[in-house]
Amino acid sequence: MATSSQTTWRNWGRNQTAVPADVVRPTSEADLEAIVGRGVAEGRTVKVVGSGHSFTDIACTDGLMVDIAALSGIRHVDTTNNQVTVGAGTVLAELNAGLADFGLALPNLGDIDAQTLAGATSTGTHGTGERYQSISAAIVGARLATGDGSMLDIGPGDGERFDAVRAGIGALGILSEITLQCEPAFNLHAVESTHDIDEVIETFDETAASNEHVEFYWFPHTRTGQLKVNNRTDEPIARRPKLKAFLNDEVLSNAGFEVLNRIGRRRPRTIPSLINAVMKPGDRFEFVAPSAEVFCSPRRVRFVEMEYAVPREHLLEAFGRVRSHIESLGQPISFPLEVRVLGQDDTALGTASGRDSGYIACHVYRGTSHEAYFAGVERIMADYGGRPHWGKLHRQSAETLAPLYPKWDAFQRVLSDLDPDGHFSNPYLDRVLRSTGFSKR
Ligand SMILES: Cc1cc2nc3c(=O)[nH]c(=O)nc-3n(C[C@H](O)[C@H](O)[C@H](O)COP(=O)(O)OP(=O)(O)OC[C@H]3O[C@@H](n4cnc5c(N)ncnc54)[C@H](O)[C@@H]3O)c2cc1C
Repeated sequence: MATSSQTTWRNWGRNQTAVPADVVRPTSEADLEAIVGRGVAEGRTVKVVGSGHSFTDIACTDGLMVDIAALSGIRHVDTTNNQVTVGAGTVLAELNAGLADFGLALPNLGDIDAQTLAGATSTGTHGTGERYQSISAAIVGARLATGDGSMLDIGPGDGERFDAVRAGIGALGILSEITLQCEPAFNLHAVESTHDIDEVIETFDETAASNEHVEFYWFPHTRTGQLKVNNRTDEPIARRPKLKAFLNDEVLSNAGFEVLNRIGRRRPRTIPSLINAVMKPGDRFEFVAPSAEVFCSPRRVRFVEMEYAVPREHLLEAFGRVRSHIESLGQPISFPLEVRVLGQDDTALGTASGRDSGYIACHVYRGTSHEAYFAGVERIMADYGGRPHWGKLHRQSAETLAPLYPKWDAFQRVLSDLDPDGHFSNPYLDRVLRSTGFSKR
């Protein structure tokens, strides 16, 4: 097991840093046991880090940072039940490619594939679709090192533990292996179209109900709405022409968007006219590609983000209020709002736990002030019992979060059981899970 010390760790958004006492890189489950033992012996907490794609300080530690990149890859495929057991440190891109080799795919994915499977599921990472669920909900088994260093297997027969571990926020132990319920590989027919935002809103409920994966973006200070609709199809692959794909993925979404944001930082008032110049109502393109290729795209423009889940029935009202809040801010916002939907699941602390949900995600270009913007959105979300994404900025604490989750007490029982001494805690987890902290032991 490799160890290195005193390097500054930074997350993808470049808004969180940590200086862990040591970074340890286990290559086996025996190493995990040894790491927990070392933490206990040295009086240090132990914190796993995935790909560092959370915007909160959820993965930060000044104790032992555990990088489980070596615990990766597909380990077992059950072709009868379409279930796959995977090393918890597997990056989603690698997982998707591996599943495709076996003719399998995950039913739903988020926007990117750079996260580790354990990191993504621990924070309840999700895509969109009223009849679909988060990646955590696809877990049918998990193996983790708990607070006494022993390895524990958890499955659907384990009740509260199973509900807690599938979206465990990194608090319950070190996940070593995860078993996922997959489905036969499928292609998606993708349609991306630009509209007046009010037209998107008026038809959204119907569009979301009659299609499988639906989301929309609204570009602040404009009337521009972009609708993305993806449905399973038996049609053969028909990718966008290379030039069109390059224009959309690189010029509009990555390099060009970076330039737009840099211009916007110097001349904020030009942002709406730049958006209007490149996105016109009536713009539309469609293509057919393997599911992971449609769900996930590269994101090279760095930003920070906050995302809340509200009961599905309040989504459009909440969106309308966020829209008004942005327009009254007096601060130009260059990044679009992203709006998604998701079916409920039975995880304890997933954002869609026990309720069909609508999501509103707010982003700002890195280095841009977001305090007034995000604080105002949080006030609106509070009126709808909004639940924050665990990996995206928020200011909630255990006191404000507890009433929002029907299975909060069940999660707390599992936490006391699996990590009674707070070996896996950090200041973030202390704040959101415990009234009295453990991480400053
Ligand atoms: C560009 C970008 C796009 C994104 N798009 C989406 C999206 O579409 N939908 C969405 O829901 N989210 C999205 N996110 C958020 C992201 O999916 C989550 O924050 C996710 O947790 C990041 O995974 P990670 O591997 O980087 O985990 P990290 O951020 O490194 O860690 C997250 C948590 O997981 C824990 N953890 C990691 N590995 C283990 C393990 N082996 N055992 C136990 N705990 C572990 C960590 O301790 C920590 O508590 C996006 C983030 C970025 C930067």
